Amino acid sequence: MNLEKIKAELNQKSTKEVLEYFLDELHVNIALASSLSIEDQVLTDMLYNIKKDAKIFTLDTGRLPKETYDLIEKTNNKYKQKIKVYFPQTQEVEALVNEKGMFSFYNSVVERKECCYIRKIEPLKRALKGLDIWITGLRREQSQTREKMQLIEWDEGNNLLKLNPLIDWNEEDVWAHIKYNNVPYNKLHDKGYPSIGCEPCSRAVEDGADIRSGRWWWEHPESKECGLHVKENV
Ligand code: SF4
Repeated sequence: MNLEKIKAELNQKSTKEVLEYFLDELHVNIALASSLSIEDQVLTDMLYNIKKDAKIFTLDTGRLPKETYDLIEKTNNKYKQKIKVYFPQTQEVEALVNEKGMFSFYNSVVERKECCYIRKIEPLKRALKGLDIWITGLRREQSQTREKMQLIEWDEGNNLLKLNPLIDWNEEDVWAHIKYNNVPYNKLHDKGYPSIGCEPCSRAVEDGADIRSGRWWWEHPESKECGLHVKENV
């Protein structure tokens, strides 16, 4: 696939047209990696409306809040599809917990990334095997670590193309789509959680606070990625 040619094709296309281009015209092996965020729920809605059997998967780290499991069920029921769920390797999780305890991720950035690697990055790598392109719900305004991301880019860490169809959307655009189309969303958003990941690493924030400030709040902003969307997966 020629990245520059694809970029030229995408010029001036709406988000829906971009997705249609990849699903209906290019016939590539493409899947949405959903974190069940509001952005990924928008994309889930769009993808299932374009193609009933669009590929969507998520990662169950084993530490998700109940509300996230409720959302998976609700989404599956609404679209009459099954989001594929990947789990971490049992032996890796057992070794981590038995050696370092249930909350090693609070000790340091290194130990937090170790947990993210075992519970998220390794399963993600398995899920991405065989794909040509993965779709994410990343938006540029979400954090300083995402400011330079593009609509489509080469993902060196995972060795495939990454499509970010909502890269230029703002939060109001996302909520407008959710509400207008009655798309299911995580009920923790109604309790002050702007961004939701694992239960012990997410919390509610004050109104108007930075979107990512409730994730890994004990770390500096520049380290706040789990490794899924950075070039060096540590
Ligand atoms: Fe572990 Fe927290 Fe990362 Fe979840 S977000 S994988 S609990 S460090």
